[in-house]
Amino acid sequence: MGARAKAGLTVGEAHGPAPQYIFSGLCKCELCKSNFVVSGPSQSYVCATRAFGGLSACPNTERVPRVRLESGLLEAIKQKLLDPEYQQLFADEVRQLLSDDARHQDAEREARRARIARLTAGIENYANAIGTGLKSATLLERLAAAEAERARLVKEDEGGGPRDAKVVPFLPDLSARYERIVSDMERVLQTSCRRARSCAASWATCE
Ligand SMILES: [Zn+2]
Repeated sequence: MGARAKAGLTVGEAHGPAPQYIFSGLCKCELCKSNFVVSGPSQSYVCATRAFGGLSACPNTERVPRVRLESGLLEAIKQKLLDPEYQQLFADEVRQLLSDDARHQDAEREARRARIARLTAGIENYANAIGTGLKSATLLERLAAAEAERARLVKEDEGGGPRDAKVVPFLPDLSARYERIVSDMERVLQTSCRRARSCAASWATCE
């Protein structure tokens, strides 16, 4: 990461309230280990100790224009993210999520079908009781409620569809999707700075 090396920076973890700039506080001064923060009308990353405490506090006078540091680091991160191993990681994560989702849907479907079976048995009991001449208002109410719930669950069950229908059209496109996400990184950073900072911190620690 050229920009960082030139600036004499090291990169640390994100803590505290979300700063306004993606790498603010993630880059550290090599001399005093305090954060590099965006400062001044020129919008440059500078050592915070130097900026607020003066030269006697830290002699690091390095000023890196925000735009140059951000574009340099982002370009390096993007290049790194396009390595096959990260593409594979992304694919594995997506498959895991889809598989978790499918398992969750299976469990839901199983629970719903068990409930439908119990309702069906109950409805039969109510119907039998009514058949023997028992016609209390409570019984009729319970029968109606059970029938309504069963109808709703049966409809839900039919709406679920086969789970593979969701997986199959998605997977072949995975590599292209991943490349789009990476190339779209600047836009993602604007809409989700805190998350991006957390990701940037973890990427930056992998030399
Ligand atoms: Zn410093």
